[in-house]
Amino acid sequence: MIGVNPYFDRLRGGYLFAEINKRAESFRRQNPEKRLISLGIGDVTRPLCPEVITAMHKAVDEMSEGETFRGYGPYFGYDFLVRAIIDNDYASRGVQMDPEEVFVNDGCKSDSSGILELFSEATSISVCDPVYPVYVDAAVMTGRGGLFDENIGAYSRIDTFQCNEDNNYIPTPPDASDKRAFRGLIFLCFPNNPTGAAINAEKLSAWVEYANRTGSVIIYDSAYEAYISEDLPHSIFEIEGARTCAIELRSFSKTAGFTGVRCGYTVIPKELVCDGIVLRNLWARRQSTRNNGVSYITQRAAEAVYSPAGKEQIRETIGYYAKNAGILKDALVSCGFSVGGGVNAPYLWIRTPEKTDSWSFFDRMLERCAVVVTPGVGFGKAGEGYFRVTAFGSRETAEEAARRFRKEFAK
Ligand SMILES: *Cc1c(COP(=O)(O)O)cnc(C)c1O
Repeated sequence: MIGVNPYFDRLRGGYLFAEINKRAESFRRQNPEKRLISLGIGDVTRPLCPEVITAMHKAVDEMSEGETFRGYGPYFGYDFLVRAIIDNDYASRGVQMDPEEVFVNDGCKSDSSGILELFSEATSISVCDPVYPVYVDAAVMTGRGGLFDENIGAYSRIDTFQCNEDNNYIPTPPDASDKRAFRGLIFLCFPNNPTGAAINAEKLSAWVEYANRTGSVIIYDSAYEAYISEDLPHSIFEIEGARTCAIELRSFSKTAGFTGVRCGYTVIPKELVCDGIVLRNLWARRQSTRNNGVSYITQRAAEAVYSPAGKEQIRETIGYYAKNAGILKDALVSCGFSVGGGVNAPYLWIRTPEKTDSWSFFDRMLERCAVVVTPGVGFGKAGEGYFRVTAFGSRETAEEAARRFRKEFAK
């Protein structure tokens, strides 16, 4: 017998960016003389830094000589990269990590969905609302989401934590009396995409305490940690108790412009045990079956991110995006918008004026400013009435967009 996985049919996402492109295209056709600015993209635009390029060239040369050629590498990453990760991302922040706890991958999107393989199909899942859609769609595709309920605007088997203006976009764990208090997987992402909110140590400690108390596991996506400018935790493992309840996902994509190169890593401490089983060992088994590692050239490129010159160069690029965020934020704030994010993240999350719905405001932005934003409702029901703006474009487009906002919305 054969049958197609029935759960793909339950997916709802995937239409957001298609719909944005459709509307932008139609605007372009009707207004060929207007220059459209996109603040919708969630991809970096600045080139790789020189130190990374040099390392890649060198690695390519090594691959061209018999003596230095490399075939299959270690399943979990070359030692030189794992060491650099531990020294620079953990030891430097006072966190001990064993090399066997770090798994180099081709960017963290694959593991943010693949990690579900470690858990039974009956495992409960909870996410923030609004949310990076990958966590939800991966759960749905593998039969863990249940049915989408139009009335509540969510999947029946996925719990959501609302993030809005009232809680400053930082959810707090349910207290013991809350009916929703549950044991399961909790996806957290800070600094957050889409809201740009960053969590402090106290609030993150509350989640770690909750997870340890209920036997839950936190999947902590810190793909944007490099954008943190305030005194906040970069890793969940800076929080006491996290080694027994958390898995961390990291990526070079936003840190060093690797969205096209592809490299990241997942950290699973050996103390993380579920049903008496050491999850790190299951993941090691899973990875050695599912993967043959990340290319040598890519891992040398990632290593170069941690060289003194590499660090300096990526800091400069992140500073460039941060300045864009500041320019856009200042303009929107001066027009009277309520603007979240943009300080520890390349995203701004903005309330639409007068409770306009996300898509109506998207159309207004397009027609009046020729600027493409992302409608907040595309990230979940709690995103209705918000829109997201990214700082990943050029300085010139950020300045031009800021001018157009002031012209259209200045009070
Ligand atoms: C961009 C992004 C990532 C990184 O994905 P990669 O596969 O490493 O490129 C992870 N999580 C979130 C929330 C992101 O926005």
